[in-house]
Amino acid sequence: MVKELTFEQGPIRPPSESTSFLLRITRNCPWNQCLFCSIYKGMKFSLRSVEEIKQDIQNARDIADNIKAISWKMGKSGEIGPELINHVFNNPDFSDSYRSIGIWLYYGTGACFLQDADNLIMKTKDLVEVLNFLREKFPEISRITTYSRSRTIVNKSVGSLKEIREAGLNRIHVGMESGYDPLLKLMKKGVSAAQHIEAGRKVLEAGMELSEYVMPGLGGQEMWKEHALDTAKAINRINPHFIRLRSLRIPHRAPLYERLVAGEFRVQTDDMLAEEIQLFIKGLDGITSMVTSDHIMNLLEEVTGKLPEDKGKMLEVINKYQALSDYERLLYRFGRRGGAYRSTDDLEKDLATRARIENLIRRARSEKGEEGIERLICDMADQYI
Ligand code: SF4
Repeated sequence: MVKELTFEQGPIRPPSESTSFLLRITRNCPWNQCLFCSIYKGMKFSLRSVEEIKQDIQNARDIADNIKAISWKMGKSGEIGPELINHVFNNPDFSDSYRSIGIWLYYGTGACFLQDADNLIMKTKDLVEVLNFLREKFPEISRITTYSRSRTIVNKSVGSLKEIREAGLNRIHVGMESGYDPLLKLMKKGVSAAQHIEAGRKVLEAGMELSEYVMPGLGGQEMWKEHALDTAKAINRINPHFIRLRSLRIPHRAPLYERLVAGEFRVQTDDMLAEEIQLFIKGLDGITSMVTSDHIMNLLEEVTGKLPEDKGKMLEVINKYQALSDYERLLYRFGRRGGAYRSTDDLEKDLATRARIENLIRRARSEKGEEGIERLICDMADQYI
């Protein structure tokens, strides 16, 4: 019986939503043309009916109640601890939906993320109905967030956005990527910098939190400077709550990969990326956003902080990387891309890991030369895409 109780989930969520209850309310991306994105390629967008979504919410509620009942049977008084999670994960009778709700209850974040790529495309009244039902069934939810495109948001009135916020949607994640129009056009983002700014301001006026994703590296070696400067300018005109850096990696399935292979797009090296991010951070002015680099694809995770007070600290992280010798930067990049390092300080802190990395580099150099080392670093970074 437990196997039959399921609800639908989509393929991705932002890193900050890793412990949220994930619920799919539309399928795939209605735009689906961005050259750098492979997530929904080959998959058709569809709206889900309100009834279908409500049934999923009811199923998720029943699952949560069943898990709590199991806890009582195990003598755990409804508490969701590691023993119960092990039971749910190791028993093939439980569906993936049970595992997902089990983990959510275990972390107790009270957060829900609505999937997929552009949920404000739903009619306002339908989205409000879904949100109301979700909050009725899950009163323990304290934060509901979703992805949406700026192009879609500009088509909603501030009044509609306010209605959606009042029904419970607290935060919108927007993939801005860039504020440089020629680059947005080149990458087929389907939106202009002016629309990004208008959308962002509308979200804020409606009283919701706004998270803007920026993509270092997207301009390649040709447009990196304009990309960094104009993106900072666009962000300054919005002043979102969060600026999240998510550096470009190019999956083989993304259309941009063909351009890369054809030599039409030249990727930024890690050192160039550091300079690009430095220029971007320097350009942020007069705003109070929180900058985060919470994506594993970022080279310098510590470029994180609240503006304006942490601007100097973030630039210092970049300066520190740039001041390393060529060899130390290579060690750091190798360790970072392999998942061993989170800070350039780790180079000195963990000498055993450093010795292992030095060995690996020596071996790669003798077998494949300098190019082989770069290839290896790139492959390690690409394991996360
Ligand atoms: S709008 Fe977002 S999900 Fe859709 S193709 Fe572009 S990057 Fe991918």
